[in-house]
Amino acid sequence: MNELFECELCPRNCKINRSIDTGYCKVKNEIKVAKASLHMWEEPCISGENGSGTIFFTNCNLGCVFCQNHQISHNGYGMVISVERLSEIMLELQEQGANNINLVTPTPYITFIKDALDIAKRGGLNIPIIYNSSGYENEEALKILDGYIDIYLPDIKYYDSKYGLKYSKVSDYFQKASKAILEMLRQVGVPKFDGKILKKGLMVRHLMIPGLLFDSKKVIDWVINNLPKEVYLNIMCQYTPVGDLNNYPEINRKLSRKHYETLLNYAISNGVENGFFQDFDSSTTRYIPNFDLKGV
Ligand code: SF4
Repeated sequence: MNELFECELCPRNCKINRSIDTGYCKVKNEIKVAKASLHMWEEPCISGENGSGTIFFTNCNLGCVFCQNHQISHNGYGMVISVERLSEIMLELQEQGANNINLVTPTPYITFIKDALDIAKRGGLNIPIIYNSSGYENEEALKILDGYIDIYLPDIKYYDSKYGLKYSKVSDYFQKASKAILEMLRQVGVPKFDGKILKKGLMVRHLMIPGLLFDSKKVIDWVINNLPKEVYLNIMCQYTPVGDLNNYPEINRKLSRKHYETLLNYAISNGVENGFFQDFDSSTTRYIPNFDLKGV
């Protein structure tokens, strides 16, 4: 796994040897997972009635200050497991009836995931594989997984680089995420369903952040102008202020219902045909998973 000896798996391009050092994401040359279970709170076409077989990887290459999963993304909660155990977990989730395997924050683990999928597929894994990420990806690293991923589920967080810099400490979020999303589209195409369940394709998420209505509209404009109409867009309002946001008082509050409704109307009136929106009351900590090593 040469990629980990000079790590460039994400646009941070730390170029460090993960066997002896750690980069921005703090992930070593090993797999660390915080939870693996059937998850019912994804989009209806992903969770369905049986649930999505969700594997939450520890740490994150983006690390937003407002992250809803702080316990794992910033605090490093999780357990180190082998590639073989990761493949077993995938098969166990399939056995439990999962509609899919949902890899959450997979980016620093791309090479391990490829190896685990090879083993699991030989062992009978045949449900769709979802790559569920922050969108801050290197196109070249994504190509490692070409043919392994059925559904890409990236976020597209900000358009203006000043917000990426302020809240995620990257100057090129939109530049990298927009290119990565086009590579994801190239790999899996537009959504294909079996009944109500998504089997293949690209679906994009945008979490609205308090005070960023103008920026959110630019994100929606990009989606409309650059992705096929068939691609689903989930405009999310579940933002909840968690963690230490004392230095960011402007986002240390709930989202405005009026802003969310304005954004939804903007998306619909500008041509978004396939998408999801959330019940405004979902902006609560009730929907933040309890990380407890279950299934690991
Ligand atoms: S995956 Fe981690 S170590 Fe590798 S380039 Fe990204 S932040 Fe750096």
